[in-house]
Amino acid sequence: MKKCPCCAVDELISQDFYGQDVESCLNCNGLWFEREELNKALSAADNDDDNVKLENRYGEHLGGSDKHCHDCDNGLGKYHLMPGFEIEIDACSECHGVWLDNDELDKVIHSPLIRKSLLELNKPLSKKTWFFQILSQMPVEYNLEVKSTPWVVYCLLVLNFSIFASYYSGLMPEFYAYDNFALFSDRVTAGSQLWSLVTHMYMHGGLMHIIGNMYFLYVIGDNLEDVLGKGRFLALYTVCGFCAAAVQIISEPGSSIPMVGASGAIAGLFGMYLVWFRHASLSLMIVVYQKKVSPMVFFLVWLAINFIGVWTSQAQGGGVAYWAHIGGFFAGLAIGLALKKSLFASNPLLAVLNSKELKITR
Ligand SMILES: [Zn+2]
Ligand SMILES: [Zn+2]
Repeated sequence: MKKCPCCAVDELISQDFYGQDVESCLNCNGLWFEREELNKALSAADNDDDNVKLENRYGEHLGGSDKHCHDCDNGLGKYHLMPGFEIEIDACSECHGVWLDNDELDKVIHSPLIRKSLLELNKPLSKKTWFFQILSQMPVEYNLEVKSTPWVVYCLLVLNFSIFASYYSGLMPEFYAYDNFALFSDRVTAGSQLWSLVTHMYMHGGLMHIIGNMYFLYVIGDNLEDVLGKGRFLALYTVCGFCAAAVQIISEPGSSIPMVGASGAIAGLFGMYLVWFRHASLSLMIVVYQKKVSPMVFFLVWLAINFIGVWTSQAQGGGVAYWAHIGGFFAGLAIGLALKKSLFASNPLLAVLNSKELKITR
C-alpha cells in the first residue's frame, strides 16, 4: 500500500474519478493521478473538448514541495497549474504523477475551460478598438461570449428605439409623449401618473442619449441575461429602474423637470456586473490613451463622474438625473451581492472565473 504524499501516515485507496482509477487519501481527501490520468479525467469531465492536455504546460515553477512521490521517492515540485491560473499543484518530475489537494479539485476540473476563457479575456487592445473608442466614445468590453441568445436585451433595444422613433419622427407629438409618459417628481408624489414610473424608462431625450444607453445595455446586458435567465433578468432590470426613479424623486420631490431614460435601470446592471464579472475588462480612454481596466476601476470612475455631476449640477441646475444613476447602481450592487452565492453555485465556471487565483492581463 502507498502512503499519502500529504499526510504520510495514511494509506491511499482506489477511487473512480471521471472514469479514471485514481488513488485517494481517506484522511485529507486529496487525489493522486498517475501519468496521463489527469488529462483523461479532464477529457471525460464536461469541458466542451474531448482531447484536453495539461502535461508539460504548467505555469510557473514555485520550487520544491514538502510532499514526496510515493512511487519514485522523489520530492515533488510545486507548480501553478497554468499561466494566468495560479492554482498550486504538486507534480513529480520522474513519473509525471500529480497530487491535487481536495480543495483544488473543482478548480482543476474546469481548467481546460479556464485556459480557453483566458485566451478570450486576455485579448489585447488593437488599433481597431482604439479607433472604435475614439470615434464612439464608448468602451470596448472583454468578456466571455454568451451561451444563449440575449432575446430580452434585443427586445428592449427594439422597444426603446421604436418608442423614441415614434415621437422623434413626429408620429406622436413630442410634447404629448413627454407630458404623459415622462416621470415628473411632483406629479408622482401627488399620486398622479404613476404609470410613468415604468414608461419613463423607455423614453430618451435625444439621439446621443439613446445610443449611449442602448450600447451599454447591449454590452453589459447580454452576459447578465446569460447567467440570470430571461425572466429574472427583465425583472431585476425593472426593479433597478424603479429604485433609480425612487432615489431621484426623494432627492427632488417637488421637481417639475421631466425625467426620461433607461440609464437608472442600466446603472443597476453595472452594479450586478461589478459583483459577478470580476474577470471581465472594459476599456477606458484617457484622452488618446486606451487602457483595459477591471469593472471595479471602470465603474468607480463612472460613479465618481456621477457624484461630481450631483455636486456641480446643484450649483448650475443640470439636465442629467445623477441621483437616478447612483440609486440604480447601488440597487444593482445590493442585488448582485445578495444573489452572488446562489448564482455562483449554479454557474461553477463563473465561480472559478471569479476566484482570486485567476489573473487577467490588462
Ligand atoms: Zn492525506
Ligand atoms: Zn514520481
